[in-house]
Amino acid sequence: MIDKKHVLNGVKSVVLDLDGTLYDKRGLAHRMVRRLFWCLPLLASERLARRNMHYLQFATGEEFYDCFFHMMARGHWWNAKIAAKWYELVYMPAMIRLIAKRQPVRQDVLDLIAECKEKGIKMAIFSDYGCVVEKLEALHVDPVQFDLLVSAPEMGSLKPSEYCARRVLELMGAEAETTLFVGDRDEKDGAAARSVGAKFLLVNGK
Ligand SMILES: [Mg+2]
Repeated sequence: MIDKKHVLNGVKSVVLDLDGTLYDKRGLAHRMVRRLFWCLPLLASERLARRNMHYLQFATGEEFYDCFFHMMARGHWWNAKIAAKWYELVYMPAMIRLIAKRQPVRQDVLDLIAECKEKGIKMAIFSDYGCVVEKLEALHVDPVQFDLLVSAPEMGSLKPSEYCARRVLELMGAEAETTLFVGDRDEKDGAAARSVGAKFLLVNGK
């Protein structure tokens, strides 16, 4: 549980991760494998490409995804175009459906969001995947309450990219010293926060 008494002291902006932070991600990877068993090689190629994209920075989201889909196709019978279509029409919709049906929302993080709203603290969702609005809607979390909805890939990289973290602060008009990043992975969300000198709150489990 989040110790709400002190966590927002001196904080003017909060940057929230989405997957694993707004909802409990446990079991999702296995459910994805079961649901997408018929296209397991594509699923495996997505995971491998994601791992290989770490620490690569592109000028635009288009360049990032172009490289990502080419990596997914490397050494396989499908090409980057097929990988992109599969990602858009199969992979992301399957993940969104599972989030809506099977992954519980984290009440402590919802409470934190409500408190930020009450105190007039600016809020951003900073995801490592796309489809931010669709996922928030799947979780019945109103996207309108956030000042910024953004993903690292659309800014050309993955977490813990310092460039992306800095860009989030810029887009929010926030100072690092008074910003709290909230996430479920220290090596991603925590490292992104530290790269710009912001505070970090780790949330995990239920
Ligand atoms: Mg996460």
